Amino acid sequence: MTDVQNFTYHCHTNFSDGNNSIEEMVLRAKEIGFSHMGISDHLIVHKNLYQSPSYEGWKKYKTVDMYAQDFKKILAKYQKHCADIRQAAKKMNMNILVGFEVDFFTYDGWLEELKEFLSLLDYDYLISGNHMVFNEDCSTFFDFSDLARIASAKDEIHRYIERHFFAVKSAVQSGLFDFVAHLDYVKRYCSAIYDYCEYQPAICDLLDEMARCDVGTELSTKGLRKIGTYYPSAEIMEEVAQRNIKTVISDDAHDVIELGTFFADAEQVLLQHNISRRINFESVDKKQKLLQNK
Ligand SMILES: [Zn+2]
Ligand SMILES: [Zn+2]
Repeated sequence: MTDVQNFTYHCHTNFSDGNNSIEEMVLRAKEIGFSHMGISDHLIVHKNLYQSPSYEGWKKYKTVDMYAQDFKKILAKYQKHCADIRQAAKKMNMNILVGFEVDFFTYDGWLEELKEFLSLLDYDYLISGNHMVFNEDCSTFFDFSDLARIASAKDEIHRYIERHFFAVKSAVQSGLFDFVAHLDYVKRYCSAIYDYCEYQPAICDLLDEMARCDVGTELSTKGLRKIGTYYPSAEIMEEVAQRNIKTVISDDAHDVIELGTFFADAEQVLLQHNISRRINFESVDKKQKLLQNK
C-alpha cells in the first residue's frame, strides 16, 4: 500500500474560472486531510485579446475577466489575490502556496513583460499551462476548442498543434516554471484530429528539454473527469519515466468537490510507470527558491 499524495498544487478559485472562494477551497482541503496546498489561478495576457476569434465566445461567460490585454492593468488585482491567499493561510492555519497557471505566448516583448510583472508579485511557483494556439508570430491567438472551426486544412491544424508544443518548450527554457500541466491537453478538443504518433517527435523534444532544465510535470485526474483518461496518456507517462522527470499528481480542481479526486488511482499509475521522483514544495523555503531561479 503506497501513501497517497495529500496535497494539490493545481486548483482554481473564483478569482479565475473556479466555482469557489479561496476559503472554501482551503476548508475542503483541510476536510479531506491535505497537509498543505497551492492555489494556481490562471494568468492569460495577450496584447491582441479583443481581436481573438475566441473572444466573442468568452464574453458569454462571467469568467471572461480572467483574460487580459495588459499586464500593467491587472497588476493590482493579482497583487491583492496573492495577499488574500497569504491572509487565508494565516486565518485558517494552513500552509498555502501561491501559484499561477500561465499561458505562454511568444510574440516579441511578451516574456519581458511577464518577468517585470512577476517581479512585482508575491508568488511561490508557476505552472506552464497552454490552452491557446496561435499563428507563426503569435499575433493572433484563440482557444484550443476553436481550432477545428478556425483551421480546416489538415496541414494547417498540424502546424498549430506543433507550434503549441514548441511554445511550451519555450516556456520550459524560460526557467520560470516549476512544472508543465496537462501535456496532451490537445486531445480534449482535437480528439478527431490528434494522433499521438504524429506528434511523438514534438512531444519527446519537449520532454528532453524538460529533463535538461529539470522542469516537472503532472499526472492530472482532470482528464479522467472530463474525457475518461488521464493527462497525459500512458505512452507519454512512459517517456516521462524514462527521462526521470519529476512528477506531481494534480486534480486541477475548479470546484471543492474535485479536490483530491482519484488520487489513490493516480498513485497506482505512477507506481506502474515506476515514477518515484516527486514534486513537493512543502519544505522548500521561498527565498531559497527565488535565489535558485535567479
Ligand atoms: Zn489548464
Ligand atoms: Zn488548471
